[in-house]
Amino acid sequence: MTALTEDICIAGGGLVGGTLAWALANAGYQVRLIEPQAYVSEERPLLINERSIALSAGSRVILSQLGLWDGLAGEPATITDVHVSEKGRAGFTRLHAAEQGVPALGYVVPSSLILRRLYGRLDGLANLRMEVGAVPAMPAQQSDRVTYRLQRSGEADSHGACRLLLACDGTQSPLRSLLGIETRRNDYEQVAVLANVQCEKPHQGVAYERFTDEGPLALLPLGERHMAMVYTVEADQLEAFLALSEAQMLASLQRRFGYRLGRFTAIGDRVTFPLALIDSSAQSRGRVLLMGNAARTLHPVSGQGFNLALRDVAALLETLTKNGVLEDPGAASLLADFCAQRHRDQQNVVRFTDTLVRAFRGRRPLFSHLRALGLQGLDHVTPLKQIFTRHNMGMASRLPDLNPLQAQIRRNNAARQKVAS
Ligand SMILES: Cc1cc2nc3c(=O)[nH]c(=O)nc-3n(C[C@H](O)[C@H](O)[C@H](O)COP(=O)(O)OP(=O)(O)OC[C@H]3O[C@@H](n4cnc5c(N)ncnc54)[C@H](O)[C@@H]3O)c2cc1C
Repeated sequence: MTALTEDICIAGGGLVGGTLAWALANAGYQVRLIEPQAYVSEERPLLINERSIALSAGSRVILSQLGLWDGLAGEPATITDVHVSEKGRAGFTRLHAAEQGVPALGYVVPSSLILRRLYGRLDGLANLRMEVGAVPAMPAQQSDRVTYRLQRSGEADSHGACRLLLACDGTQSPLRSLLGIETRRNDYEQVAVLANVQCEKPHQGVAYERFTDEGPLALLPLGERHMAMVYTVEADQLEAFLALSEAQMLASLQRRFGYRLGRFTAIGDRVTFPLALIDSSAQSRGRVLLMGNAARTLHPVSGQGFNLALRDVAALLETLTKNGVLEDPGAASLLADFCAQRHRDQQNVVRFTDTLVRAFRGRRPLFSHLRALGLQGLDHVTPLKQIFTRHNMGMASRLPDLNPLQAQIRRNNAARQKVAS
C-alpha cells in the first residue's frame, strides 16, 4: 500500500485551488498543490490588456475571513451601482449599494493580480508542498486513501497518496473524466470576447449589464475611464467580428451599448472564451471532490462563477474545521454533508444564470416586451429587486462561519512575522 504523502492533494492551482491551498495549509492539514503551469508571484505593472473579474460583496467577506483580502486585491474598482437594461426597450433596473446599506455591491480586480498575490503568500507556507509543472495521473480509490502517480512532461515521476483529492483542474477537468463523472452541457453557441476599453465619461462606480439580440454585454468599472468589457458574439459571427479594425469594433460596441459612457475611444487585446454551461452529475466520487470550474462552469453573464466557487470553498472549510480538530478530510460523511449543504445555492445560481441567458436571447417581439416589463417591474417591486440584488451580491444564501479558521490564520500570520523579524 502506498504510504500517505499528504492529507489533501489539490490538483490545479488556479483561483480556486490556490485559495484552498492557502486555507487548508493554514488550518493545519498537510497539503500538496499540483499545477502544470508556472504562475509568477513577482509584482509587475498592470497592463491595459489585463483580464478582470468581478467579486461580490459576499466574496469580499470570505476572502477577508481567510486573511486574503487586504493586499490581495490591490486597489479594486468599486461597484456601487449595477445598471441592467435591454437594447431597444425602455425597461431597465438599477441596483444601488446604498439601498442595501453596504459600501459596495462588488469589486473588480485583475485576475492575474489575485493569482500573483496569492502565489506570493503560498511561497514558503508551512504544511504546503508545491509541485509546479506536474499533473496527477491514474487516481485509484482505496477505502482510506486515494493513490495517484505524479507526472512531469508525460513521464511518471513518483507515487502519491492522500486522504482527500480536490480536483480544481478547470472546465475540462482531466480528473473528472478519469473518474467517469458525467456532465450536463448546454452549449450557448456564443463566444465571450474580453477586452478593456477606454471611454469619454467616468463610470462613477456603475457596472452595466446590457441584453441585446446578439447576446449580453457587460461593462465593469476599472480605472476612472476604463471598463472591462465582456462582449458576447454568436459563435458563427466570431471570425467576422475579430477581423474588424479597432475603429469598427468600437463602433460596434457603441451601437450595442449607446452613449451612457460617452464615446468609446480605445480597446485593448481581445481574448475569447466559448460559452457553455457544464454541470457535473456528481460533485464527489469516493475520496475525490470536484471544486470550481471542474464542478461547474457557468456563462459569465452576471459574473457568478468564482463567487459561487468561493462560497463552496468557505463551506468546505467550515465542514472540515468546525469541530476544532482535523478530521479525516475524505470521510464519506463529511463530503456528503458538504454536497448536501451546497446543492441548493449551486442549483439556484445555475438556474439564475441559464434563465438570464435564455430569456434575453432571440428576437421574438412578445417575449421581448415581457422582458422589458420584467425589468421595469423588477425596478418597482422592492422585494423582487431585493432578491435580485442579494443574488448579485453573493448574499442570497447563508455565508459559512469561518471564525475559528480566521483566528488560526491570524495566529499563523503573527508567528510568521515574528520568525521573519
Ligand atoms: C469571460 C469570463 C468572465 C468571467 N467573469 C467572472 C466574474 O466577473 N466573476 C466571477 O466570479 N467569475 C467570473 N468568471 C468565472 C471564473 O473565471 C471562474 O469561476 C474561475 O476562474 C474558476 O477557477 P478554477 O480555479 O476553478 O479554474 P481555472 O482558473 O480554470 O484553473 C484551473 C487550473 O487547473 C490547472 N490544470 C489543468 N489541467 C490540470 C491537470 N491535469 N492537473 C492539475 N491541474 C490542471 C490549470 O493550469 C489551471 O491553473 C468568468 C469566466 C469567464 C470565461
